[in-house]
Amino acid sequence: GDFPIETDTLVIGAGPGGYVAAIRAAQLGQKVTVVEKGTLGGVCLNVGCIPSKALISAGHRYETAKHSEDMGIKAENVTVDFSKVQEFKQGVVKKLTGGVAGLLKGNKVDVVYGEAYFVDNETVKVMDETSSQTYKFKNAIIATGSRPVEIPVFKYSNRVIDSTGALNLQEIPKKLVVIGGGVIGIELGSVYANFGTEVTFIEAAEDILVGFEKQMTALVKRGLKKKGVEIHTKASAKSVEESETGVKVTFEVKGEEKTIEADYLLVSVGRRPNTDELGIEQVGVEMTDRGIIKIDKQCRTNISNIYAIGDIVEGPQLAHKASYEGKIAAEAIAGEKAEIDYLGIPAVVFSEPELATVGYTEAGAKEDGIEIIAAKFPFAANGRALSLNDTDGFLKLVTRKEDGLVIGAQIAGPSASDMVSELSLAIEAGMTAEDIAMTIHAHPTLGEITMEAAEVAIGSPIHIV
Ligand code: FAD
Repeated sequence: GDFPIETDTLVIGAGPGGYVAAIRAAQLGQKVTVVEKGTLGGVCLNVGCIPSKALISAGHRYETAKHSEDMGIKAENVTVDFSKVQEFKQGVVKKLTGGVAGLLKGNKVDVVYGEAYFVDNETVKVMDETSSQTYKFKNAIIATGSRPVEIPVFKYSNRVIDSTGALNLQEIPKKLVVIGGGVIGIELGSVYANFGTEVTFIEAAEDILVGFEKQMTALVKRGLKKKGVEIHTKASAKSVEESETGVKVTFEVKGEEKTIEADYLLVSVGRRPNTDELGIEQVGVEMTDRGIIKIDKQCRTNISNIYAIGDIVEGPQLAHKASYEGKIAAEAIAGEKAEIDYLGIPAVVFSEPELATVGYTEAGAKEDGIEIIAAKFPFAANGRALSLNDTDGFLKLVTRKEDGLVIGAQIAGPSASDMVSELSLAIEAGMTAEDIAMTIHAHPTLGEITMEAAEVAIGSPIHIV
């Protein structure tokens, strides 16, 4: 019996997918309601991208403060007040989530706190601890995101932690074991390695950061090993014994069983979509057996007024993908011709060095039968990289042989995460290597590496023979 509240577009979840969709839908003249059961900003702003990057940069500063002897800097007694580091991190999160609240308000989006549950294809019920309210919508956008996978043998507890636990540790552990050498595991493991924790990785695959090229992951591994990090690949974690003060993890590598003690075990083995407690099965929204919602090029599910975006649909679980899809869904609802096109989508690891990839890799292009030129330029031949004393890495440009079209790029090196934007743009805009080579890049900058690789691609490099 409550009186339903009517809205045009109902967005479920206020992560980088949902809040962006809500803003764009409001800009396009819709009456928008966004439902959030947790905190505005979703995983990304609260317990994902942003807090991890705050800790990564703090750890990196600590590391470089201690080790800048090459540049004539000798720092003694560099210390960390980890509670202050945590305060810094939380401050960044607060600023951004507050910003999202302001943006939603500024765009006249109604924000409702509670858990949404589908009743039928035009009704959801929103429940909080004390009450329930029904909403009627013309269109809905589901943006409920994902959560860490939990393995039965490694149930989360005080000492067996997920990424959220790892972001919120109140002290620097002496020892940390990480199951899973994927992006999240590597980023969080690196944070603590920089703060002096003895970190051990247990990874089932034959390499860390699966999906990135070996030449790139080799640089990350070398950096981690320099910090004393142990990496066991082709290793399988078997069990954990937990005490009040720590864990004992048993794993198998090369047929040999080993145990290792640590303060914490971080389990980082992937994320599963939050599609199991939404009531969408009864509405008939089609999913894969892994709970991934199936969508068309306009982010529409098989139910024509229900859309889905972000971590709950096919593709890489990345914040910028979620936001992009949010804009597409909102525009599709408004009757625009927007369609998803992932051609220029970048993926980044905030490791040391940073890794970034966009479009085709060399191997991927060959697999698709495209004749290519792969042109590489090292950071070590760049003046800016040298003056930063940060020269580990390379940029590789993948161009189509017949016409020089830029179809992909991989970067390992400082600021790879920022540099990749130029290449996303080049791919989006259909540029050739010559276009990049003839674009004047400021000197001395890391961006010149992109120009120089383009010169290599067209056969006329200046700073390399
Ligand atoms: P989410 O951000 O997961 O948001 C979903 C929201 O929906 C949540 O707020 C949730 O409370 C809400 N919700 C769920 N169910 C309901 C319901 N029934 N009713 C109401 N609300 C509901 N990606 C990057 O691109 N770059 C990075 O550097 C990066 N770093 C990461 C680091 C870590 C440690 C982690 C865990 C992830 C990282 N990611 C990164 C991934 C990124 O966080 C996700 O891809 C992104 O948050 C997905 O956005 P989303 O909008 O789909 O969902």
